[in-house]
Amino acid sequence: MSKYIFVTGGVVSSVGKGITVASIGTILKSRRITVSVQKLDPYLNVDPGTMSPYQHGEVFVTQDGAETDLDLGNYERFIDVNLTAESNVTSGQIYSEVIAKERRGDFLGGTIQVVPHVTTEIKGRFNQLAQKSQAEVVIIEVGGTVGDIEGQPFLEAIRQMRNDVGRDNVLYVHVTLLPYLTSTQELKTKPTQHSVNELRRIGIQPDIIICRSDYPISEGIRDKISLFCDVERQAVIPLPTVSTIYEVPLILEEEGLGQLIVDKLSLKAHQTDLSQWRELVTRLKTPHEPVNIALVGKYVELKDAYFSVREALHHAALYHDRDINLLWISSEDLERDGGETLLRSAQGIIVPGGFGIRGIEGMVKVASYARNNKIPYLGLCLGMQVMVVEFARYVLDSTEPNSVEFDANTPYPVIDILPEQKAIKDKGGTMRLGNYPCQLVEGSLAANAYGQSLVHERHRHRFEFNNKFRLPLEKAGMICSGLSPDGKLVEVCELANHPWMVSCQFHPEFSSRPGCPHPLFRDFVGIAKDVLREGAQPSLPLPSGL
Ligand code: GLN
Repeated sequence: MSKYIFVTGGVVSSVGKGITVASIGTILKSRRITVSVQKLDPYLNVDPGTMSPYQHGEVFVTQDGAETDLDLGNYERFIDVNLTAESNVTSGQIYSEVIAKERRGDFLGGTIQVVPHVTTEIKGRFNQLAQKSQAEVVIIEVGGTVGDIEGQPFLEAIRQMRNDVGRDNVLYVHVTLLPYLTSTQELKTKPTQHSVNELRRIGIQPDIIICRSDYPISEGIRDKISLFCDVERQAVIPLPTVSTIYEVPLILEEEGLGQLIVDKLSLKAHQTDLSQWRELVTRLKTPHEPVNIALVGKYVELKDAYFSVREALHHAALYHDRDINLLWISSEDLERDGGETLLRSAQGIIVPGGFGIRGIEGMVKVASYARNNKIPYLGLCLGMQVMVVEFARYVLDSTEPNSVEFDANTPYPVIDILPEQKAIKDKGGTMRLGNYPCQLVEGSLAANAYGQSLVHERHRHRFEFNNKFRLPLEKAGMICSGLSPDGKLVEVCELANHPWMVSCQFHPEFSSRPGCPHPLFRDFVGIAKDVLREGAQPSLPLPSGL
């Protein structure tokens, strides 16, 4: 039977609860304890798939095609597991299931209530993941902050679990923020005391409190939290802000969190081995020569909208012993006359995914800039579609080629709606989602990167390369270097007369891992690092005889 660690958040959101949860996974895994993870999102959307990235940040996609919270990306990267749809539960899913059961007559005669019907459904999801993963420990993160209205049923469900599976099999971890007052130069514990009180009010006494802070946490502060929140002194764990998120497992381990969890849950554990992780962090913290990469997107004001893309770039840079200097460029800014000057220092350009017409022309312009100036270019999903649109405009010598997503009446629909998408009316969860196979063309840049011919990658799109235009574009130098095994869908394309302009219809960023960069990102950064930066001089050959 699995044991459970429930993680709640106090005081404010965005203090790094997801990273903390992922890090707990890392330190347990380093003791050869098997773990799985689940995120509970209190909002009423069934999934974040229809939300704007401005609301929610990136939508992460699992191999089995679930559109999920971006925290799942962190869980996958930290624990090196491939999660499934069971790892993200929303209030929307819970309520729609309970109501469907009611309509079906499963509760005939009963009044349907939050307790027990909704809470039972929630606990069913805990059990489902435990059964499916067979993990020794299931870590469950309750999204939001203690005290939120929507979060109440989730908190009630995790409270009930203590009696359902026995108190020795559950652990409550509360991640909280200690605000700093500049005037008195001190960290304050009162908000933490209040959020712990709020937890206690609903019957949960935290076993461990993890204190986030931008400042060092003194022994006195730890004593105070221990006393007021009734948590053992050693179970008050300080977690100051660090320069790289990958350092968090090391800090928690140093503070004794791993042993504490093992003891409290009476887990069978091996000696911890975080040596590889430690080496990774040392390398990450060592300054390296930077590579300037321009990320040209439509949601760049919110960096979380491209969380996995940014991480995948860092993984790739680390492989080459480089740092990434990421230039965040709004594609709308490129639409202005002379907008290209923003790209002057870029050694590589990445155009990530997106939806809707805003900023598209700026992306087409950037694809044109990359093609003409032979700057390495990596297009991800929408980034591939704009690369195809731009190349078609060049080949057909017309400004009209477009994706039907942006111009339904274009005479040159080089990107068209997928046939199976035509009849679909509902927007939620209906795209082409999750893993699909892709056959790579021998000798192509893509095949060279992967070093294998059949790959499986995660998708999230409605539109695709229109085969009617394949021949003219191929004749002009576009190589369709990745195809679905039946040859019908173009999954990867690249340009023949260009050092490295490669795009894919899928999202490689989701499967990149810190110690194992995705091959396309790895090769993209590998070639970009050798592009001369503005002002840099090529080294002159030494005169012979010296
Ligand atoms: N909007 C495009 C489509 O639906 C691209 C999607 C994406 O970039 N994820 O096909």
